[in-house]
Amino acid sequence: MNYKELAKQKLSEEEYDVLINKGTERPFSSKFDLFFENGEYFCKLCGSKLFSSEYKFDSRCGWPSFSEAENVELKQDNSHNMSRTEVICKTCRGHLGHLFADGPPPQGRRFCINGVCLTFKKL
Ligand SMILES: [Zn+2]
Repeated sequence: MNYKELAKQKLSEEEYDVLINKGTERPFSSKFDLFFENGEYFCKLCGSKLFSSEYKFDSRCGWPSFSEAENVELKQDNSHNMSRTEVICKTCRGHLGHLFADGPPPQGRRFCINGVCLTFKKL
């Protein structure tokens, strides 16, 4: 499937800017930032399951944060003069956010994710 074409039809301007142009939503703007209901999170573009509420935590960083992910790929990202790890959806290759090493133990991983990339289904 051509996900770029699908993105044009399916996504809002802000969603397109993040998923396709690797933009970043404003901090503390996501409805999922301080949202802790039981359920699963899916890619807004392709519908792949990406995160579970079980691994969601309040990082106070301003974006939805998870300590575990599914169906994502990690890529070295040297944009904006920073060395970061980009998190992308394995299926549609849409940009989701970044992975940082300051998450909770034991693995210390923080998937810092733009909420506009996600849809939520209650369990
Ligand atoms: Zn996707």
